[in-house]
Formats: sequence, structure tokens, C-alpha cells
Amino acid sequence: MRLGEHGLSESEAERVRAVRLGAVLRNTPWMMAANVGNAAVTLAAFRDSTLFPWITLWTIFVSILAVMTSLTWWRTRDRPARQTASIRGVRKAVLYAGVLSVLWAMLVAVFYFHADEHQKLVLVAITVGMSGGGGFALATIPAASITFGLFMGIGSAVALTAAPSLIGINLFILYVIYFVIIVRSSLSLCQSLSARVRAQLAADEQRDVISLLLNDFEQNASDWLWAADENHIVQRASSRFFELTGKRVEDVCGHPLWQVLPCRDGDCRTTRSNTNGPLALREQLERREPFRDFELCVEQNGKPGIWSLSAKPVFDEKGLFAGHRGVARDVTAAREARSRIEHMARHDPLTDLGNRVLLSENLDHALSRLGHFNESFSILLFDLDRFKQVNDAHGHGAGDELLERIAGILRSFATELDTLARIGGDEFAFIHATARDPKASAELAERIIAALQEPFQLSTGTVRIGVSIGIACAPIDGRDADALMRNADLALYRAKADGRNRYRFFDLSLDRAARRRNLLEQELRNALATEALTLHFQPLVNAQTGKVVCFEALVRWTHPTLGSISPAEFIPIAEDAGIVSQIGGWVIRQGCQIAAGWPQDVRIAINLSPRQFNSPGLFSAIKGAIEETGLDPSRLELEITESLLLNTTGAVESTLAALKGLGVRIALDDFGTGYSSLSYLRKYRFDKLKIDQSFIRDIDSDADSRAIVDAILRLGRDLRISVAAEGVETEGQYNLLRELGCNEIQGYLIGRPQPHGAITQFLPEAAA
Ligand code: C2E
Ligand code: MG
Ligand code: MG
Repeated sequence: MRLGEHGLSESEAERVRAVRLGAVLRNTPWMMAANVGNAAVTLAAFRDSTLFPWITLWTIFVSILAVMTSLTWWRTRDRPARQTASIRGVRKAVLYAGVLSVLWAMLVAVFYFHADEHQKLVLVAITVGMSGGGGFALATIPAASITFGLFMGIGSAVALTAAPSLIGINLFILYVIYFVIIVRSSLSLCQSLSARVRAQLAADEQRDVISLLLNDFEQNASDWLWAADENHIVQRASSRFFELTGKRVEDVCGHPLWQVLPCRDGDCRTTRSNTNGPLALREQLERREPFRDFELCVEQNGKPGIWSLSAKPVFDEKGLFAGHRGVARDVTAAREARSRIEHMARHDPLTDLGNRVLLSENLDHALSRLGHFNESFSILLFDLDRFKQVNDAHGHGAGDELLERIAGILRSFATELDTLARIGGDEFAFIHATARDPKASAELAERIIAALQEPFQLSTGTVRIGVSIGIACAPIDGRDADALMRNADLALYRAKADGRNRYRFFDLSLDRAARRRNLLEQELRNALATEALTLHFQPLVNAQTGKVVCFEALVRWTHPTLGSISPAEFIPIAEDAGIVSQIGGWVIRQGCQIAAGWPQDVRIAINLSPRQFNSPGLFSAIKGAIEETGLDPSRLELEITESLLLNTTGAVESTLAALKGLGVRIALDDFGTGYSSLSYLRKYRFDKLKIDQSFIRDIDSDADSRAIVDAILRLGRDLRISVAAEGVETEGQYNLLRELGCNEIQGYLIGRPQPHGAITQFLPEAAA
């Protein structure tokens, strides 16, 4: 029964059976007509024979069977073809083939022996014809085909045995050959049928999966499908589209795609992406090419949005263009999210100015415009003066508020073409794209400096800051981004070094200075490691008695190839490089140790730079040095500068108080050169003021200098603060200062800074 089902799974076999039975069923009327026809021919051949009544009876049997079969076929002909068939169906077909073949086999087996030659011929022809025809008609069911042929063969064999003849034997041999061929063909037909059904099953399955997915897609996805014909007229669109647009089917189907979509003209500004309008869509469709993610600007619920369309062209069997099949989706939210992320990647969250990424991109653009159109531009780097103090004194909230206000001011100076970026805590960059000459940038810098000089009213109080600006102009100061940034930075550095709150242009000397700075920074680290620094000491004398009361320790560095380098040059470098505390620590230890061997009435003055003063280890370094060396703290004088006291923070005040608590003296160095706010003279109890040498230099020739020095001396007297004058080089200066009541004198006139071994002449009472 299962012949021809080899290698099939049960579900496949069921499908294959249904196809096979269906093929046999389709042949039923023809087979039945052949049966009835052949029976009639047989009846005609035996009409004069004595066997006629028997043959008639046989014919009636055959006809009844044929008519019944045909009637069954007739009743079921309109039923849809069955998709599967059980093995019972096959069994029934085999039984039926058996019954029919037995009837035909009986005809030849029973009547052949009694037939005359003519009748024999008819019987042989009908037997061979029927077995061949039946075999082929039943070929799709090998079991039935074989059964049919087998019984017919048995019938013929019986007939031959009853009436043997040579021709009969030959015919039988031929019959056997046909039978084998029929069986073979039947089996191979079944095989190809199985393969076809299998392929069909696979295709069906794939179709089922696809339709399942499509159904799911249509019902759940935000995407929608569309189909347009060769004239781009919409044929179909999925329900999601009608939901989205609120349109009816008749308003959509039958119209060109670009007319039914809610396109907006122009671009979708809010999303800043490259979207298209209806015209571009039409052009795209007319190209008859596949396309992906074609972004269309639409209007939904009164708001701009973006739909993304993808489609493939379809072609008919003649290869002619038959329209597009595509998918569309609303990507507004995704695009907005993307542009938000892109914005975030290029902007500073606090001020919403650009960040370094945007700066470097726009700098590249400006450089490419310079290359192509020779459009010169300049870059300005800003560093806020005293921002840190605002942050420390007023809190980070106030710092942020100030930065936002500054960003607003800077924005008001920028045109559409310029770029503004915040590139550090209090650092900003400005690409002045419209600067055709340096003068324009200088004017811009002046206006910005003036604007930022105004006091800012913050929620925590009023603050004053300033701004230092470095300017590099392209192409004079560089043709690539790195060079321009570096040069603007050097100019900024110069602006800060020149006293802040000013702008400086880059020039080549800055480059040289920067190279030297880099070299010195490197070398200074080595000098620290190899203890190549030394201390010199410069005496201060009592103006009235001329007795040495103090030595100022001044650090010295003699480089093997660069020679002696002034602390005025390398201390700021050490500050920037973050190693000033190490140098300062060494000076403190060394100074205290040496001073411990001096007479009790000689003090040592040690300079502290602002960075060093603000470093956390300062107090313990000083305390440690005093304890280790046993130096009386009142013999240690620490020189600080006014810049430390500007916008002071709690930290500076408490360190000062702690140091005073140790019993050390605090001197205010370079008095008169800084901001000289007199309020901090009242706020902090200084032990000494050191009048800067710039006032002393021309004290005997310039009345103004003299007036200032006189005023400082009087102030010191009134506040009971000792006053020293530095840089005294002449007897005249000395005498004048003594007359004006100056307490201490320091300068080349008394003695130059010298190594410890050379100052013993000033220390007559103790071995130095
Ligand atoms: P300063 O503290 O004001 O030191 C006085 C400077 O004036 C010294 O320069 C000194 O050599 C110079 N000077 C003294 N008398 C005269 C004079 O009669 N005429 C002239 N023309 N100059 C005179 P120096 O040694 O080059 O030091 C420069 C600055 O470097 C110092 O200014 C001080 O601020 C800083 N410095 C020096 N040593 C140290 C140190 O160990 N630590 C820190 N933080 N700073 C130091
Ligand atoms: Mg000093
Ligand atoms: Mg000084």
C-alpha cells in the first residue's frame, strides 16, 4: 500500500497520497467509459456465440460497476480537492483496481478457450489494451497499478495454459515486458510526484510563515505597506496608513503616491535632517529603482514629522515595470532622538554652547573655506580671570549661573557664521569666521573684555571677573587646526602673563617662548630629581642701625647649558607644571635648617607662590620644618603676594590663621604692584609690608613714587606694621627711606643674594 512513499514523513505521505488519488480520480470518467466501451466491443464480438448470454451477464456486471463508480465521481466532482488522504483511501483504490482487473481477467481466462480466432484476437487486444491503459491510468498508485496488471496477467496465463499457442506465448512475453515497464514508470512517476509535493509543501510553509508575519506586521507594527502601479498610482495600503492619516480608501487608492501622503513642502526644521518633499518622491519613483530610507517630510496632527519610505520596483512576466511595493514608517521620534543625541555630542550641557567636538568640526570647515575661497578667519581663546575664586567663594551653583550668563553675553557677539564653544571649566573658544583682518578680531576682543568687566549680579551676590583672550589668525598664524589652537593658546598665555583682562595676538616670539617653557619644564623636573637647585640669601638691614635683621632665601638654578635661570622665569613654570610645592618644600626645609644656625635675632624670609600656598601640604611642611630644625617660629617670615588675597576663599584665610597660630610671621611682598586693596590690610594682621622695588627705583627723582612710598610708610606706622623697601641700590635711596621712617632695607646696596658660604660677613656673632 505504501509503495512509492519511501522516504516521506507521514504528513508528506498524506499530501502525496491525496495528489495521487486525485490524479486517478480525474481519470475516472475516461476509465469508466473505456471499460464500458471495451465491454461493448467484446459483447459485439461474441454476439453469435453460444457464450453470448454469459458475456452479456459479464458486461452487465462491468457496466454496473462503471456506472456506480461514475455516479460517485459525479457526486463528488465539485468538492474541493482534498489536501491529505489516509492509507485507507489507497486501500480502497487498490481493492477497486483488484475487482475491476479480476472481472477483465475472468473474461480472458474463462472465454478465451471457447472463442474462435476472431474472438481470440479481440480478447487478446482488449486484455493487452486494458492492462496497459489501466496500468497507466492507475500509475500514480503503484499498488493499484501492479494489482491491476497482476490479475490481468494471471487471467492471460490461465487462458494460455488452457489453449497454448506460439503467438499466445509471444504475446505473454511482451505482456510481461510491458508490465515491468509500467511498474517502473509508475514508481518513478510517484517519485517525481513526491518531490514535487515536497517542494510544494516547503513553499506553502514559507508562504504561511510570510503571511503570518505580514499579518502580525499589519496589526502591530507602526509601519505600513503600500503598493503602487506603473503610473505610481496607489493600489493598496495597509490599515495603519488610514489610521495615521485619517483618510478613506477611496481618497487613497487610485491617486499618485505623492498626493496621498501628508507631505509638507520645505524641510522639517525641527528635526534638522535632510528630508524630502513630494517632488523629490515623485522623481524617486520615476527612476523605477529600488530605494531605502527615503525620508519624507510630513505633517501629522499639525506638527512636522518624518516618514521613511523603502520600496522595490516590480516587473511583470514580460519584464515590464509594474510599479513599486514598499514599506513606510514614522521615524519622527527616532530622528528627534537621534538629533538630540547628535546635539548632545556636540554641545556643552550647561551653556548649550558647542563643545570641543563642534569646535574642531567647525574649525575644519573654516579651514576648508580658507582653502577653497581664501576666506580668512581667526580663533579667539578665552580664559576667565578669577573664576575659580567665584566658584570657591560663592559655590558651584553660582559658578554655573555665572557661566550661563557669560555664554549669553558671548552669544550676543557671535553671528550665524561664527562658532562658540566652551572647552573647559572657564575656557571658551570663538571662531570669528567673518574676521577679514586682525583688526576686526581685536575690536571683538575689546568689546568682549569690556562686557565681561561689568559686575555680575548673581543670586548669591555680586561678582567681578575679567577675561584674558588669545587670538590666532588664519592663515598668517597657521593653516591647520592644531597650529591655530596652539598659537591662540600661546597668545592667551601671554595675555594672562601680561596681567590678565586683556587680549594678545599670537606672534613668533610667543612660539619661541613656548618652546623655551617646554624645555625649562622638562629640565626643571630633572633639576628637582638631581637636587640641582640651590639657595641664595639676601640680607635685610634695620634702616636705623644698619644691622642685619633678616635674610631672604631666593632659589637659584644654574643649568649646565642654559646657564643661570631666574626664579622669576622658572617659578611660574613650576606653578603651571604643578611642581612648585616640591620646590617650595625643599626651600622651606633647607632655609629653616640653615637659619637655625644663625644668631637668634636674625630671621629668614621665605617666598610662597600662590599655587604653593593653596596646596594642601603647605601647613604640615612648614610645621614639620620648624619641628625638625628647632627654629623659633617667630624667626620665620613667609612672603606672600597680593594676588593670593584677591577674591580670597575660606581656605586661604584658615591657612593664614593656622600659620599665624604656629607663631610665624607673614609679610606682604611686592606691595603696591597688585590690586592694593587696603581692605585686606585690616582683615589680615600682616607683620610686614615689602614695598615693591619699582617704587624705590626712582624714589629720589620721581615725586609720585616718593609720595606713594611715603603714604605706605605712614600707613604701616598707623597700622603698626613693619615696612621694608626692596631694590635699594643707592645711598640716596637708603637715606631718603630712612628719613621717611622705613623700618628695613633690602637691595644690592646692602648685599646681593649670595650662597650661604658668602654671607658670613653679615653674621659676625655666629658661625654661619
Ligand atoms: P622677590 O621675592 O620680590 O625677590 C626680590 C627679587 O629682587 C630677587 O630677584 C632679588 O634678587 C631682586 N633684588 C634684590 N635686590 C635688588 C636690587 O637692589 N636691585 C634689583 N634690580 N633687584 C634686586 P630673584 O632672586 O630673581 O627672584 C625673583 C622672584 O622670584 C622673587 O621676587 C620671588 O617672587 C621669586 N622667588 C625667588 N625665590 C623663590 C622661592 O624660593 N620660592 C618662591 N615661591 N618664589 C621665589
Ligand atoms: Mg620676596
Ligand atoms: Mg619682592
